[in-house]
Amino acid sequence: MPLPRFAYFRKQIVPYQDARLGLLTHGLNYGTGAFAGLRGYWNADDGELNVFRPLDHFRRFLESARLLRMQLAVTEADLLEALTSLLRAEDLHTDCYIRALVFYGDEVIGIRLHGLTPEVSLAAVPFGRYIAKADGAHVTFSSWCRVDDNVIPPRGKITGSYANSAFIKSDAELAGFDEALVLNRAGQLSEGSAENVFIVRHGVVATPPLTGSILEGVTRKTIIHLLRAELGVPVEERPIDRSEVYLADELFLTGTAAEITAANRVDHRSVGNGAVGPITTALQQLFGDIVRGRVERYCDWCHGVYAATVPAVRQTAVA
Ligand code: PMP
Repeated sequence: MPLPRFAYFRKQIVPYQDARLGLLTHGLNYGTGAFAGLRGYWNADDGELNVFRPLDHFRRFLESARLLRMQLAVTEADLLEALTSLLRAEDLHTDCYIRALVFYGDEVIGIRLHGLTPEVSLAAVPFGRYIAKADGAHVTFSSWCRVDDNVIPPRGKITGSYANSAFIKSDAELAGFDEALVLNRAGQLSEGSAENVFIVRHGVVATPPLTGSILEGVTRKTIIHLLRAELGVPVEERPIDRSEVYLADELFLTGTAAEITAANRVDHRSVGNGAVGPITTALQQLFGDIVRGRVERYCDWCHGVYAATVPAVRQTAVA
């Protein structure tokens, strides 16, 4: 992966290679950090890079930081200002992925969440598809269990809990699957390693509830809205058994990286007739138009990086 040219680090835009940390950094040693993943979508017709729902991502980011007892003196708007400056410095004219990170930056030994100083950073890289299976992914149920609210709260995007996701993803890929679904401690469906999950059965869409050991996904919220308001499809947020997934007519994963990824096989069973289903296809088309700023009534969800009028964040020259 080509590295970024710049990063937002210690309140400035700096050359990426100058954003360095010490080996004893708390967040690196103990997973005491939180992150956000956003996407920028290039629209060649308008010459614009649209960041999708940045304020929603930054709100969850700041809430994840609060779970870690971090006291941050920044708002969602401050983060968007910094991100806009960073993306302009990078001068990206292609689809990209943006990583916001907050971590305890102290170089100390000692596991805790108090008496430490958080640091915020941003970086962006060109990015294409995350799960490159247009005709449907093959997913499996992981033998790992999802972390739960009384272990590491999965509703926040806490760096340490991504070791759980990494176990899940690697075991699935090394066994020949594209992704895994994970059960929560109650034995019901939670989510994928880095995606929320939806099933369609008998014309009704269902997805696990926010209390089911899942991340409060921005794409999940978007999809629930689009299903109800645009496609007129009923959506239930409720516990889902493993056997319901095996009987689903359609199955898809949602996430900033995964976008809307159809799964057409689960544990060597066909989902529906094995082709990507009509609700999934309709959502993919609508979502694809919305994120590039092509649907007027959803333009508020897109932040145009080059058109935006925000003050620039101080920048140091690239070496
Ligand atoms: N669940 C997990 C565990 C994730 O890491 C992600 C990716 N952020 C998602 C769900 C999807 O969330 P979002 O739509 O906000 O990207």
